[in-house]
Amino acid sequence: METGSERRRHRLSSQNPLTGEDVGDFPIMSAKEVRGLVNAAREAQAEWSQRSLEERAGTLDRVRRLVADRSEEIARVVRAETGKVAGEALYEVAVACDYLAYLTRTAPKGLLARQAGTGWLSHRRARVLYEPFGVVGAITPWNYPLAISMSSVGTPVAAGNAVVLKPSEYTPATGQLVVELYSEGTGLEHLVSLATGDGRTGGALIESGVDKIAFTGSAETGKKIMAAAARSLTPVVLELGGKDAMIVCADADVERAARGAVWGAFYGCGQVCMSVERVYVVESAYDEFVQAVVAEARRVRTSDEPEATVGSLIAPFQLERVEEHVRDAQSQGARVLLGGRPIKGPGHFYEPTVLVDVDHSMDLMKDETFGPVLPIMRVKDDEEAVRLANDSPFGLDASVWTRDAARARRIAGRLRVGSVVINDHLINYAIPDLPFGGVGYSGFGRVHGLEGLREFVRPKACVEDRLAFKREPYWFEEGGSGEGLVRSLLKFRHGRGLVRRAGAALRMLRDLRR
Ligand code: NAD
Repeated sequence: METGSERRRHRLSSQNPLTGEDVGDFPIMSAKEVRGLVNAAREAQAEWSQRSLEERAGTLDRVRRLVADRSEEIARVVRAETGKVAGEALYEVAVACDYLAYLTRTAPKGLLARQAGTGWLSHRRARVLYEPFGVVGAITPWNYPLAISMSSVGTPVAAGNAVVLKPSEYTPATGQLVVELYSEGTGLEHLVSLATGDGRTGGALIESGVDKIAFTGSAETGKKIMAAAARSLTPVVLELGGKDAMIVCADADVERAARGAVWGAFYGCGQVCMSVERVYVVESAYDEFVQAVVAEARRVRTSDEPEATVGSLIAPFQLERVEEHVRDAQSQGARVLLGGRPIKGPGHFYEPTVLVDVDHSMDLMKDETFGPVLPIMRVKDDEEAVRLANDSPFGLDASVWTRDAARARRIAGRLRVGSVVINDHLINYAIPDLPFGGVGYSGFGRVHGLEGLREFVRPKACVEDRLAFKREPYWFEEGGSGEGLVRSLLKFRHGRGLVRRAGAALRMLRDLRR
């Protein structure tokens, strides 16, 4: 019989970060169980991929309806597993519904086979077909357990794939809910299935023979995922962490920028991949900006009460990381203007914290903090701000704050990131038609938008007959290498002078008729 400790090794319990209470108990699935899910998914996919694009889109719309109808219940589960405030949990539901509506509208057109040009082979017809990969393994994090899992599943499914979802070990109940919603909406039991567990289960999913991996999580895990997937040359999409910079120019609306900085840094308790993690302010605006940020940040209320603006960090390891970053920065001369301490629990709370006198030698300015911490750095001008913003291996999002649209575009064009927002932050993720993803340590590949949809199809090139001939002029010629035809072709397509090109065309036609 299994002992208690053996049983615990095979199971994980999800806990409410606000109260420490158990939310649920889930199996840590073995490699064999995961392979079983993938095999069943393969059978379901064979049937699903035969359905028309419109039918698949209609099915996703049914899933959207279910999510919207059950929004309050879903948000409660998200809040219980993450410690988010109620408004943020509900916002995840709204983002998921908007994205499903986008997929419903876009997938039928975006995945339709396209005609391709044929160049000089005008007697041929060419098309590009977008075919599903087969079974996609989606591995997701805890910070947006609903919105990210809904889109990590919905996009491949719209493209005709089946999905095995491995949600974070911190949010398995939300993962379970996502799979239930897809199963009910599609009416297919194995099209979307749930592999609960920790990193070992994620590793098993990569080894299970899936045809593509869609991973969202930290850069450190992303490297492991890529190394493991390389063994079988399984393609990956990696949506990783960020160290997002905010640039405040001399002509910015300082009050608005300060409010935006406080929201962008503390929303989700700073546990958003595109949270504002560094602010660079041009010196003429610096003092006013810092003062306004501190005044605004004082109004942020962190607790488990319904009226709180910010909730709990996910778990003790996050609290330790935040404390460590602040401690290290202080030991190197940073000044804490507000906050800087944990708040007594039961939740894993940390005070909204504003720091100045920071520089790039500090971990706080280099590594992802993922907590309610806003470090502000004074810079000489836009030039220095751009240089410092780009001085990071990460490159997810950034924002530029200025009243001058041309200046904003100039700066945006020089930032090494996947997305830039002018005079706001974070909101690009809520625009489903925009591709989302990063560069460098923030990963590669895109989710959302047409680009994200096409991550989950293989383009297949097809060349077909337009006019049928007995033979092709470029096939082996009797007694020759086809040199004459190639010469005429080159002259016709790339030579100089209309008369010469026309002559080459006539020679080619003569050769073709032979
Ligand atoms: P994480 O990397 O620790 O875990 C993510 C997922 O990977 C989990 O499901 C985990 O169980 C699994 N995993 C861990 N080790 C694995 C392994 N060796 N093989 C396979 N799977 C493994 O990340 P997290 O702490 O859950 O999430 C926070 C991170 O995610 C932050 O860095 C954040 O910036 C990032 N994130 C990025 C985006 C984005 O879209 N770019 C969105 C949200 C979060």
